[in-house]
Amino acid sequence: MRALGASSLASLRNPQDKRGVMVRTRFAPSPNGLLHLGHAYAAVVAHDLARARGGEFLVRIEDIDGTRSRPELIPEILADLKWLGLNWDGAVLHQSSRLAAYAAAGERLKALGLLYPCQCTRSEVVAAAHEVGPDGPLYPGTCRGHAVDPDGAAWRLDMAKATALAGPLAWSDERAGIQQASPEIFGDIVLLRKEAPASYHLAATVDDAMQGITLVTRGQDLFESTRVHRLLQALLD
Ligand code: GLU
Repeated sequence: MRALGASSLASLRNPQDKRGVMVRTRFAPSPNGLLHLGHAYAAVVAHDLARARGGEFLVRIEDIDGTRSRPELIPEILADLKWLGLNWDGAVLHQSSRLAAYAAAGERLKALGLLYPCQCTRSEVVAAAHEVGPDGPLYPGTCRGHAVDPDGAAWRLDMAKATALAGPLAWSDERAGIQQASPEIFGDIVLLRKEAPASYHLAATVDDAMQGITLVTRGQDLFESTRVHRLLQALLD
């Protein structure tokens, strides 16, 4: 996670973002464990940026990973945020209440012909991969273009088709400047899967749009994810 010191916070202090809309940030923890110092830092940065600009700070609980999510930790996480002195605007959004929206986004991508079913297991993907991308072994496209049983399948994004449809994309990072999205480095990522109703990438993009988030702050470990999110924003309008 990058250090955002007091001087850079001050330099970012303006009431509206460059498009003239009210700044709205969010802190979006996955309740897979208790908050750690990195979470606390990310929450403070998102909160302080919003408050410095007279904007809003939202909290979203990313609780849709059925294998890792621990709902019993959510009250503890919210209590820790309060203990840190962070007050959020509006109600906390739980991704578990948003499954229909993710399914609808998935259907839109399917209707565009951009998703295909895949029955490969994780170990098959690891064994077949020749390269590693930001999310792990790059899927070599084994199921792409084949008649695969969609029942219980994971749905992968046909990255070549998706990037051809979207065209070149960029985003503006307040510290690193204009970034070319180049999502192809992720390969054919999974967007819908068996054990979780939507991938982090799909759910976060759909919710950031629905919640009107104007400035995303997140750990440096997730910087690359923005490439995929930018692509999904374009594909889903
Ligand atoms: N839920 C993610 C996490 O806890 C953060 C998501 C985001 O900031 O986009 O690491």
